[in-house]
Amino acid sequence: AEPLLRATDIRQHFPVRRGFFKPNAYVKAVNGVSFDLMEGETFGLVGESGCGKSTLGRTLLRLIEPTDGACFYRNENIFEKTQAEFGKYRRELQMVFQDPYSSLNPKMRVGSILEEAMTIHGIGTRKERTDRVIDLLETVGLSSEHYFRFPHEFSGGQRQRINLARALSLTPKVVVCDETVSALDVSIQAQVLNLMKRIRKEFDLSYLFISHDLGVVKYISDRIGVMYLGNLVEVATSKELFEAPKHPYTQALISALPKTNPKIDKQRIKLSGEVPSPLNPPSGCCFHTRCPHATDICRKVVPTSRTISGTHKAACHLYEDNV
Ligand code: SF4
Ligand code: MG
Repeated sequence: AEPLLRATDIRQHFPVRRGFFKPNAYVKAVNGVSFDLMEGETFGLVGESGCGKSTLGRTLLRLIEPTDGACFYRNENIFEKTQAEFGKYRRELQMVFQDPYSSLNPKMRVGSILEEAMTIHGIGTRKERTDRVIDLLETVGLSSEHYFRFPHEFSGGQRQRINLARALSLTPKVVVCDETVSALDVSIQAQVLNLMKRIRKEFDLSYLFISHDLGVVKYISDRIGVMYLGNLVEVATSKELFEAPKHPYTQALISALPKTNPKIDKQRIKLSGEVPSPLNPPSGCCFHTRCPHATDICRKVVPTSRTISGTHKAACHLYEDNV
């Protein structure tokens, strides 16, 4: 199958001025990331805070203009579109952010918040928009009763439901979810994640689900990509990643999860040192300064992405292409 969205060699380098006479330095927030998002799937993007996953999500939707790379949506490179041409894509490519408290205008009633995006995009008559908003409120587990309420009258979980409804109002095909449940209590997280699973089916969506929380990503994702220091170091199906992680960084992340099966003797892998600065990333493999398996070649040569299986790739010198 053709991917719905294909990211190739995406880079996002932010210039940092170092003074009048010195050339700019660059924070390499995203440093050459490629992956496919298939129709109807949830692709989880996981990594520690600062690894570039949010920046990648925003770059794909051109909320920040890319430094380099291409993003094909239905085989069109949306990075090459003018802002005017990009308008029609914006409707199909939506984003839901983490903070349910700041993303809703506190002075607007929920009904107006939900109608606003449709009005901007010229969708439907006023009556049709109102009907649609009431449908959407029900879809996300709220009701027409909530139409005239203000955001502060809702709990965090309900506000995230409203955010989802707002994204859905434009009938998107792809929704980039950035830490969508991270600010919520664990019990509420499960409810919102289940709602998101149902919505994905009902509306034929694909999710790029960004989170630092490996447990949450595991729960919702079909496939998972692991990011470290602006690089995608491993991509696999959810099952492959958790049963047989290949990249030493992924292995360390998984070893830090609470044990689900006490019979499996899983030693926690402790990583030494700190994540290096994206202003001055290490030579060779970006993970070599912390990797328990690093050898000479790791310090010198950037590892290419190795094919472990048809659905599993890892960028690490420990592996040979298995083709
Ligand atoms: Fe570790 Fe080398 Fe693999 Fe990088 S390439 S993850 S340093 S073994
Ligand atoms: Mg983030």
